[in-house]
Amino acid sequence: MKESLGHSGPPWISSFEGQNLELNPSKRQRLSHDYFHYSPVLKASLQDKVADAILTPKTPDDLFLGVKTAVSLRLPMTPRGAGTGNYGQAVPLYGGLVLDLTKLQSILDTGDGYARVQTGVKLGVLEQVLRQNGQELRIYPSTYIKATVGGFVAGGSGGIGSITWGSLWDGAVLSMTILTAEAEPRWMTIKGQDLAHYIHAYGTTGLVCDVTLATAQKVDWHQWGVSFAQPGAAVEWGRELAMSVQSGLRLISIHEWPIPTFFSSLRGVPTGHSIALVEASEERESVVRRLLTKFNGTVFLHWDQNRYHRGLGVSEFTWNHTTLWAMKNDPRWTYLQVRYHTDHYPRQIEQLHRQFGDRVLQHMEWIRDGGQLVLSGLPLLYCQSPQEINEVVEFCHAIGVDVYDPHTYELYGEGRKRQLLEAMGQVKRRHDPFGLLNPGKLLDVREASGA
Ligand code: FAD
Repeated sequence: MKESLGHSGPPWISSFEGQNLELNPSKRQRLSHDYFHYSPVLKASLQDKVADAILTPKTPDDLFLGVKTAVSLRLPMTPRGAGTGNYGQAVPLYGGLVLDLTKLQSILDTGDGYARVQTGVKLGVLEQVLRQNGQELRIYPSTYIKATVGGFVAGGSGGIGSITWGSLWDGAVLSMTILTAEAEPRWMTIKGQDLAHYIHAYGTTGLVCDVTLATAQKVDWHQWGVSFAQPGAAVEWGRELAMSVQSGLRLISIHEWPIPTFFSSLRGVPTGHSIALVEASEERESVVRRLLTKFNGTVFLHWDQNRYHRGLGVSEFTWNHTTLWAMKNDPRWTYLQVRYHTDHYPRQIEQLHRQFGDRVLQHMEWIRDGGQLVLSGLPLLYCQSPQEINEVVEFCHAIGVDVYDPHTYELYGEGRKRQLLEAMGQVKRRHDPFGLLNPGKLLDVREASGA
């Protein structure tokens, strides 16, 4: 046990004798935060939260011992991967332990169509290893270089690859091994429909120790940046590209002007143009170019497979990296997560433009959800107060745009399927009878609804 000078520590630390427990204040501070500062609302409510100690297991046995000790002391436990989540998912609301799981980093087995890895393996490392063996990840977040497999499965949703493979709920996870937080913790193998109780559950229903991910055959990806003078053309071009081919696409990300001006490392976008950033296989070049002619688009960037995963890629301007570049430009930008109507999206986008002008800028990704092509948006909002953000949210509701509120750390909220949350609550009551796993994140649905 490492103890920092000047911090006598809480009375229970001796129970962790021989375990990798740290009390260092700056480390506790650092590992108690994630990327919640993308939300001014979460920033105000979470910045003072800090764990009492950091426990860093290096093996599953260490994890078991640490959890058993913490349960005996009734200490809250907040699991953590790389801490790149945006909703304060990895912030300990009630102190206790942050479980730093990044040292559980073995790649246990890989084969045709699957990879079984410990939770702390970085997605970027796994992608590299898989590609050396003719496979690749199906989906991964734009933070893949830092983010861990366990953190993505327990805290993410989708990303690069979602245009073909959908989200985490669409077969991306084949199985996982979890540890419960009972007085005598149990290892459990989770498969099939039960996986939904742990995906994007923030570790509230069990601690993920290892995950078996579905993988895909490796593709030699080309990266494209294409631009359009006409408003709305980038969205339509992306839609037609996605409709034309069912495979050979990894990313279609749309950014209206002036978002490209925030991308200081992405040169060559003609002034006033909206853009699409695309990853497509070499075989798709003909359809990319044919559709560009149809929509009067031009190519400002084309990198072949030799540039893939070497240096900054186009994906690092997409998904929530778009918000990162906007905030670099002006920290008063924030964002929302929305889903446009499959047919009426052009009208909805137009209505948002008319209502909010340059205060709401359109950034979206074409993805598949349960096989259906949908327009998923991460619009940029030039708003700082909860009232201003709410104004946009209310307007979205009024015009039929679904909102997945990124300004809350609670799993109870809009857009989450109520039935699934109820089932997660039941699992939690069994696996975490003392309410120690990431407390405050999964509200009891019955209580929250006032039932
Ligand atoms: P963490 O942030 O450490 O943890 C995420 C959640 O999982 C927390 O609730 C934590 O308690 C829990 N957790 C971690 N490990 C375990 C475990 N072993 N068992 C149980 N619970 C655990 N997300 C996307 O889905 N797609 C994107 O494209 C995307 N782009 C992003 C871009 C930027 C710039 C930023 C800042 C964030 C983005 N995110 C995105 C959010 C985040 O980066 C990803 O979800 C990422 O996969 C989280 O991984 P992590 O290792 O950082 O997890």
